[in-house]
Amino acid sequence: MRRGWSMVNRCNLCKEDEESANHILIHCGKTREFWTLLLSSFGVVWVFPDSVRNLLLEWKIKGLGKKRSVVWRMAPICLFWCIWGERN
Ligand SMILES: [Zn+2]
Repeated sequence: MRRGWSMVNRCNLCKEDEESANHILIHCGKTREFWTLLLSSFGVVWVFPDSVRNLLLEWKIKGLGKKRSVVWRMAPICLFWCIWGERN
């Protein structure tokens, strides 16, 4: 597209919205199911921010034990990795 080629810019996962990093990683309906599953495993309800950057900045929780806290901090990166691999 930067070279002036006309290309369809559509999410490969849901085929509904425009593809962007924010859409694919946090706002896509398909990936939102994984986020819901992940958050429910921690018993958390989360309001998603508009961007991946803000999600990572706000990804904090108190009251978890040491091991669960480590998993919590790794969770978004692991999920991003899986989603990106599936997208490609
Ligand atoms: Zn999508």
